[in-house]
Amino acid sequence: MAAGPTETFDGIVIGAGHNGLVLQAYLCRAGLRVLALERSLEAGGGLCTVEDNWCPGFYHNIHAVFLRGLAALPWYRDLALEARGVRAVQPALNLALLPGDGPPLRWYTDEERTCAALAALSPADAAAWRRIAFEYAPVVQEIVEPALAAPPLPPERERALLERSAAGRAYLAVERLSPRDFVEKHFEHPLVRAALLYLCVIREVDVNVPGQGALVPALIAGRVKAQLALGGSAAVARGLVADVHAHGGAVWEGAAVRRIAVERGRAAAVELADGRRLGARAFIASSLNPQQTLLDLLGGEGLDAATRERARAYRYQTVGPLFGLHLALEEPPRYAAGAAGGPGDDVGRAFLTLLGLRGPEEVYALYADHAAGRPAAVPVIWGTVPTTHDPGQAPPGKHTAFVWQKVPYALHGDAANWDAAKEGHAAAVLMRWREFAPNLTDRAILNRFALSPLDTERRFPNMAGGDLGVGWMGPGQRGADRPLPGQRPYRTPAPGLYLCGACTHPGGNITGLPGYNAARAIAEDLGIKPWWDPPDLAERWSRLS
Ligand SMILES: Cc1cc2nc3c(=O)[nH]c(=O)nc-3n(C[C@H](O)[C@H](O)[C@H](O)COP(=O)(O)OP(=O)(O)OC[C@H]3O[C@@H](n4cnc5c(N)ncnc54)[C@H](O)[C@@H]3O)c2cc1C
Repeated sequence: MAAGPTETFDGIVIGAGHNGLVLQAYLCRAGLRVLALERSLEAGGGLCTVEDNWCPGFYHNIHAVFLRGLAALPWYRDLALEARGVRAVQPALNLALLPGDGPPLRWYTDEERTCAALAALSPADAAAWRRIAFEYAPVVQEIVEPALAAPPLPPERERALLERSAAGRAYLAVERLSPRDFVEKHFEHPLVRAALLYLCVIREVDVNVPGQGALVPALIAGRVKAQLALGGSAAVARGLVADVHAHGGAVWEGAAVRRIAVERGRAAAVELADGRRLGARAFIASSLNPQQTLLDLLGGEGLDAATRERARAYRYQTVGPLFGLHLALEEPPRYAAGAAGGPGDDVGRAFLTLLGLRGPEEVYALYADHAAGRPAAVPVIWGTVPTTHDPGQAPPGKHTAFVWQKVPYALHGDAANWDAAKEGHAAAVLMRWREFAPNLTDRAILNRFALSPLDTERRFPNMAGGDLGVGWMGPGQRGADRPLPGQRPYRTPAPGLYLCGACTHPGGNITGLPGYNAARAIAEDLGIKPWWDPPDLAERWSRLS
């Protein structure tokens, strides 16, 4: 890189997914002039809504849809996104599991309704659910939620602080378990066990790995459930971009970064694919994965051999990828009365509809099947009909709907097989869907398209192996160790270069918390007093008794 920068900013963010945009918005409001560079033609990353190619006016959310607790996230509030037109709804029947051969399981936002519905399946499980919701509410509010919204503490310090309070000790007792241990200990009905474990899989947590047992009680006792962004998921990204613009920042789309340059020992500039060079006076933050950021873009410069090897060895999840089938429809899927439990059933208004899951064995089988490159012979599929809750996402009276299936990335040993297999697999998924919704006839379907894990990776190279959580969430890649052990959270060994995407704590999905926490780390290093009120975890936990 011989030529000097064409323009210099205080900070540069690589990748304008929601984590990059959240970080940028906080630092623009702190008075810095920050530029985000996005390789695709539209900012937002996984917050992506596209208009149907064949059917104008039908909008498909082809990546993130179930936005857990969106309106309760700190950045949603701090950045006043509702003043920019962002809105979310939280459907009352938040999840319905239709096994196909018996009554469904229903999970409402209202705990009493959930327990009443569970009692029809298993009175013992309904009682266990109520007890866990009560017992773990303080653990979720005082330990789990604050820990997500703050840079992780060193493990010994965290343990010492947690051991001082009742909520902390309750957390430690359950955290050492695997989700599977917790579920098998507390619940007996196969549907209840399967639903809880499948939600862990959807949250990209390996159900067999110890050290993540707190997720299940957190799902039960958490106050927030899945929400839908009105107008499509991209509306949230548009709100973030508007906030960035209102505070002096810029977002350049169609601007792929191909190199990070180090000058006088600091990450100081980036080079774009078209050869332009842009300077960063104070910081560069990358929302990409460790291999892209440290090896491909930085070229390993300034990293010792051990760090280079750790970056190379960063792992992705075998159950991370999804196959998606998206439909533009004359009418919404109508789930057969037999499957849904009778006329007048509210299953048609469920937000997340999980189809064909009958027991925990189907969840356990995913791990071996995916390692062997085999999709399940009888697929479990899940999805939603966004237009049931937000009719504006299709023309009047019409609908959009989709289902996903967890599938292996390396199909029969090679991800390239997906291109030839995609249409056939989509037909099989549609046949499976029709077992539950027979009205999805060819006449009702105006258009359909499918997306494979390879398509995901092509669109978002940071989701290597199609892993939508951008990295396995097991020991060695969680908390203070995410993405690489031995680094201060969000920092890299190259001074001035930070990580802020889903490969950092607390991981993937639309939480914005990696970006939120990284903004705090950068502000701290630059000596900027935050204008917002980030939680002081150590102080908060030391006040608990
Ligand atoms: C099919 C699918 C369904 C999902 N469903 C849900 C869901 O329902 N709920 C949920 O919470 N999460 C869901 N997710 C996961 C969620 O989308 C991701 O975890 C989240 O988007 C990660 O956010 P991020 O900002 O870290 O990265 P991303 O959203 O991936 O953003 C990174 C950005 O960097 C850009 N980029 C990459 N390389 C470069 C480069 N060299 N230069 C410049 N820019 C670059 C990318 O184009 C992208 O825009 C889903 C993901 C997929 C794939």
